[in-house]
Amino acid sequence: MNSPFELSKEEMQSYGYKIVDIIVNHFTNEENKKPVTKASREEMDSIFLSEAPEKGTSADEVLDFVTNNVLPNSNISSHPKSFSFVPGPSNFISAMADSLATGFNIFSGGWIVSPAAAELEIVTLNWLLKMFNFPVAEGGGIFTSGGSMANLTALVTARRVKCGEDFSNAVIYLSDQAHSSNIKAITVLGFKKDQVKILPTDLEFKFSINKLKNEIAKDKLEGKKPFCIIASAGTTNTGTVDPLDTLADICEKENLWFHIDGAYGAAAILSKKGSRTLRGIERADSLTVDPHKWFFQPYEIGCLLVKDSSWLSGTFSEKPEYLRDIEGNESEINFYDYGIQLTRRFRALKFYMSIKTFGLEAFKKAITYNIDLADKTEEILRKSTDWEIVSPATLAIINFRYNPLDKNLSEKELDTLNQEISTRVVDSKEAFLVTTILQNQVVIRMCLINPRTTLKHIQDTLKECDDFAKEILLEWKK
Ligand SMILES: *Cc1c(COP(=O)(O)O)cnc(C)c1O
Repeated sequence: MNSPFELSKEEMQSYGYKIVDIIVNHFTNEENKKPVTKASREEMDSIFLSEAPEKGTSADEVLDFVTNNVLPNSNISSHPKSFSFVPGPSNFISAMADSLATGFNIFSGGWIVSPAAAELEIVTLNWLLKMFNFPVAEGGGIFTSGGSMANLTALVTARRVKCGEDFSNAVIYLSDQAHSSNIKAITVLGFKKDQVKILPTDLEFKFSINKLKNEIAKDKLEGKKPFCIIASAGTTNTGTVDPLDTLADICEKENLWFHIDGAYGAAAILSKKGSRTLRGIERADSLTVDPHKWFFQPYEIGCLLVKDSSWLSGTFSEKPEYLRDIEGNESEINFYDYGIQLTRRFRALKFYMSIKTFGLEAFKKAITYNIDLADKTEEILRKSTDWEIVSPATLAIINFRYNPLDKNLSEKELDTLNQEISTRVVDSKEAFLVTTILQNQVVIRMCLINPRTTLKHIQDTLKECDDFAKEILLEWKK
């Protein structure tokens, strides 16, 4: 045996089974753990900081160390009381599918290297294309590491298709509620500040159409070249969906690329209510969807869908001499020609296996449940004279603040109070519940895309907030 990395069959089995047991334990016992962990750099350093060891240690010993120190020092993003950012309510089938993909180390770049991997990516992308009413024959897409990479891939493509080589005059439009990854992508692409128009949203946090029209008209008069609008189908802050149909009309009239960032929200297409909210999504040129959010997949899987797959191949195909032998014919897609990565992990497998196992029905049920749960949460909050809804339940996100009617608190006091409520909840580790800023107010935000979250989890958390609020007001002698 020459390779220093080999284990005996028995060693591999016992090690592997042990890990499966740890994961199964996590899935079955998650609710009894606290969703939040907190550790400083010093604390982490004191556990982990060391030189790379020259000599190895027994596999079991390393695994035990990791089980005791690494796993508990990470928030549980699939915990039913993990309400912040966009939670990651993963599923066991997909977690195991990822282990298979990694275990076999399947290269998902070129057709001849792994025809089945490419085929499963084509098949699952077709499922998504159909879901969003994109044309399956001409349409296409690619799985990425996440929504950030999908947005970047979209904007590279949009710029190439609309501007070709010269983008010195090109202007791109987005709202102040668009996700920060779009700004990052624009930075990566090297646009100058005056080529990016971030427009303030209206009172409902939607793209303000009049401002947009004025800006486009002004830019054209100045000899600039408007080329792209980025809309949000579910802003991360409030779940708000921009007026997609109206924006699509503007894009058609002005010959602009229409990109929709539906990283978290687009999955709501699978529910009746969500699909009404998302009306017009099918008119995008490109659409970002993040299966590792509301499609219940483990990290990382994001996705970009486009109306015409040749837009991607026309943007990303390079023909270096060392890839000559694996080019193949056109129907046999090499996904390295559709995006930025050459070597790619087999992301389609988990999506494929979980949808085959549970059926779309399960996904529809879970997403519908989530949207209803947020509506019920809004009802509960509206019944109380202590809570104020700042942004109503939309695509399972709701924003609210503690504002007791009888206390007459100033805006500044309300900001401090709500910030402090969130801090105390997080410090208690019972729930992951953080704030955001809406219209200059500090508000508490809940994103309820976890099908394991029940109304009881929410009521318990609101009760905790209530108790902390009263405690704080008492400290303030209010
Ligand atoms: C989460 C999110 C992103 C970024 O996606 P990642 O998978 O975190 O890279 C982009 N846009 C929106 C609207 C999001 O909610």
